[in-house]
Parts: sequence; structure tokens; C-alpha cells
Amino acid sequence: MDELQKIDILSLDREELAAEITAMGEKAFRAKQIYDWLHVKKISDFSQMSNISAQFREELSKKFCLKQLIIKKKLVSAIDNTVKYLYGLPDGEAVETVLMEYKHGNSLCISTQVGCRMGCRFCASTIAGFVRHLLPSEMLLQIYETERDSGRHVDSIVLMGIGEPLDNYDNVLKFLSLLNSEGDGMSLRHISLSTCGVVNRIYDLAELKTGLTLSISLHAATDERRSEIMPINRKFHLDELMKACRYYFEQTGRRISFEYSLIEGVNDTEQSAQELINLLGGFNCHVNLIPINEIRERDFRKSRSVERFRKRLCDAGLNATVRRTLGADINAACGQLRRDGGLNNADNKQTTGGEL
Ligand code: SAH
Repeated sequence: MDELQKIDILSLDREELAAEITAMGEKAFRAKQIYDWLHVKKISDFSQMSNISAQFREELSKKFCLKQLIIKKKLVSAIDNTVKYLYGLPDGEAVETVLMEYKHGNSLCISTQVGCRMGCRFCASTIAGFVRHLLPSEMLLQIYETERDSGRHVDSIVLMGIGEPLDNYDNVLKFLSLLNSEGDGMSLRHISLSTCGVVNRIYDLAELKTGLTLSISLHAATDERRSEIMPINRKFHLDELMKACRYYFEQTGRRISFEYSLIEGVNDTEQSAQELINLLGGFNCHVNLIPINEIRERDFRKSRSVERFRKRLCDAGLNATVRRTLGADINAACGQLRRDGGLNNADNKQTTGGEL
């Protein structure tokens, strides 16, 4: 059978795996052992399951596929240990994953889709459009493969790579539950999900009352300006988005983080700061200011007023910080590495301190 037509074993939760294994005539404890090999020991081949008989391993490999990612490109920062991976997927597509080091541990930024259909004007991930959703296994493997390759333990996850996680809602939720239930299960408090503002899904997520941190990519505080740079705003206006954010906070008690990428002359003026203060004033939240990453396909420029903007917000009582730039020497805007990788057909590992 074609590998890709077999059951994707890494995307099965404990119950689903147990049902498959017992249907093959094995006892339920086998499923536990197999789950442990897959999600705790994180093996990459059925042959490594040493407490499973060779005959049953053979049966497993006929029925299931154990997906793997291939490192197509790897960039290591000479400044701060940031590592960017371009991972090849089983069907030949590719996504980006970034490993960052903070005082509190290692954080991994993972992708949730190949491409994106949200169309944000400043974002490289969306330029070539949407290709497909990532499977739960393909999100997990970004963690497993990065831990294997780097020898570093991933302590927290941000869903902030390529794609809109709430546009791949079911697979993302399955991924989170797998992550949460594996042997040394990661608490959802160590996971942040970033969205451009898919309002109906924010309500769905709120109902689950998890400890997940929600980040909203805001980037503008009036409908007119936001709709110009983020098409999602034409579907869900700011008042609806803010209502959903308040509801999320009420239901979960988790403070929302608003991402605001500063673009010279577009959203970094005194007036823009005032609009942001008007929108968020009085709401218990955090504002993350990010100097925009310039991408060559668009003519947005990095703001020169980041500090002044931050001070203006703080003076008005907002909790605003400027995101620390990591991996400045391997600085590729979100989705840029995949585009370059595709164009150059790069299949080599690289260590570089220079430009992409
Ligand atoms: N689709 C999700 C998550 C992926 S994008 C979302 O929109 O939140 C992750 C973050 O990077 C978002 O805040 C997005 O707006 C931001 N981003 C995209 N392109 C960027 C760029 N060129 N410079 C700075 N931030 C960018």
C-alpha cells in the first residue's frame, strides 16, 4: 500500500490507538507500549520498538505509516542560539519551525498550515496562497524532530509559524490534546496560539476553558486601517473581535496578548497610538510591539518610532513591551524561508551567520 494511504499513527490519541490495536487481536497494554514508543521515547521507525515482536512490528508497518520530517534547510544564529528549520513533509511540501532560547527555557514556534489563506498584506506566508492543512502528526513532529536534532528540550510552544491555526481548528485541537496527554504531557499553559482574529473559533476555544494563551494579531486599531492590511477584518470587525476577546478572558481568566507590528507611516503614528489606547484602555491585556520584518515582495518599512510608541502606550496605562529580536542574523520574515527554500530547491543543512 502507498505509505500516504496508511493510517497516520502519530495522529491517533490513546483511545483511537487502543481501538486499532485491539482490532488487530492484541491486548490493550500493547497499545500503551506503542503510544509510549511514539510519544515519550519519540522513535522514528517501527523497528525501534524493542518490546514488540518482529512479527507484530511488521503488521504495524503494513497498516500504519510513521511520518517523518526531513531537514531541508537549517540556519543557526551565531548570536543567540536561535535555530530555524525548513522541514520537508512526506508529500514534498515544506514548513518552517523556529527554536528560540529564553531565560525560562526553549520555546518552539511551529507552523499549522502549508501556506495561508488569510491574506495579511505584510506577511510572506500568504503570498503564494494556501496549499493544505497540517495534520496533528505534522505539528507534533516539528517538536520531536527539533528535539532530536538540537538535543534541546522544548519547554513551550507558540503556534505562530506559517498558517492560521484557527483555520485548521480540528487538527490543531487534536495536536494540543496529544501534546497534553503524552507521557510527560505539556501543560496548555505553556502554549500560545496566535490568530489574525477568526472570531467564531475564539468563542469555541473559550468554551473549552483551557489554560491556552491567546495572542491576537491586531496591527491596527480602527476598522478602516485594519481592513486595508488584514482582510479578515472585513469579515469580523474590531468590535466583534474585542467582544470575543473579552469573552475569552472571562471564561478562562487568561490575559490576552495583542501583537502589533509597527510599520513606518502606516500604524506607528501618534494618532495610531491614541486609537490603540482607545481600543484597549481598561482591558486587562498585554501589548507586544514588534518592529515589522521587511519582506521583499511588499514595500512596508520598519518603524523608527517603536520606543516612542511603546512609551505613549505605557504612559496611558497599557501594559506594552517591545518583543526582543532573536536570531537577527538569520532574520527571515514568517514564511520567507519556505519561499526561498522552494525557489532554490535547497536540500542542504546550513549553518550561517549571514543573510538568507
Ligand atoms: N495566522 C496567525 C499566526 C501566524 S503569523 C496570526 O495571524 O496570528 C504570526 C505573527 O507574525 C502574527 O502576529 C503576524 O501578524 C505576524 N507577522 C506576519 N508577517 C510579519 C512581518 N512581516 N513582520 C512582523 N510580523 C509579522
